[in-house]
Amino acid sequence: MAYSKKRGGIPIKLILAAGIILFSLFKYWSNSETNEWTGRKQHITLDADQEIAIGLRSAPQMAQQHGGLYPDQALQSKIDQIGQRLVNSSIARETPYRYDFHLLRDPNTVNAFALPGGQVFITYGLLKRLENEDQLAGILGHEIAHVVGRHSAERIAKQDLTQGIVNGVLVGSDGGAGAAQTAAMIGNLINMKYSREDELESDKLGVKFLIDAGYRPEEMIGVMKILKEAAGGQSVPEFQSTHPDPENRVEKIKEAIQKYKK
Ligand SMILES: [Zn+2]
Repeated sequence: MAYSKKRGGIPIKLILAAGIILFSLFKYWSNSETNEWTGRKQHITLDADQEIAIGLRSAPQMAQQHGGLYPDQALQSKIDQIGQRLVNSSIARETPYRYDFHLLRDPNTVNAFALPGGQVFITYGLLKRLENEDQLAGILGHEIAHVVGRHSAERIAKQDLTQGIVNGVLVGSDGGAGAAQTAAMIGNLINMKYSREDELESDKLGVKFLIDAGYRPEEMIGVMKILKEAAGGQSVPEFQSTHPDPENRVEKIKEAIQKYKK
């Protein structure tokens, strides 16, 4: 009986579902290029101009989420100066991106992040814990590396792929929530894993930027200690939630110092 039921052909919704999933996979895999500054092959659907536009458009919103910019023009300029020194003495200078460095007012959150295209932010909550300029340069260098590595653009391409697969599963399962949730969960796990690799790449490249600009790369180890301590405190360690364990990072940072130090 069950056999004769299947003889009606493949249900149209399964064909549609397969089509949506295959199209998403094709779009993702066909948009493959080698990053000319890191040498790593990656899947990207945006061009540099689009990355810059997305970053500039989202910058005010991101600032607002952290209480706006820190109201001290001299301090803002100092941070921008350190950031530009890192850019101008490294391969970041050769990229098409437009780098700006901003200090956010938020005194409680320990965080730093980069938007695609070159908008870089650090919270006052993180800045006030730092012991010297080299540590600040270390954090900015790490964020510049996220821009140069085009990690946000890569994550956007992955999110599009994940969304395509989720849509396909939804169509194929009549919108069954269980299947869609499973698909979304798998998608998140994939993205999370890649994101950790991004963090390690940024640590490594960040060390190189520090050395190129004449900063002491060893201070990055102190930064890791500060991040670890922040996690034990009351502040929400956002910087850590998407970043690998500082202990593991220290080992990789030491390797990078060995590799790049002249
Ligand atoms: Zn990072």
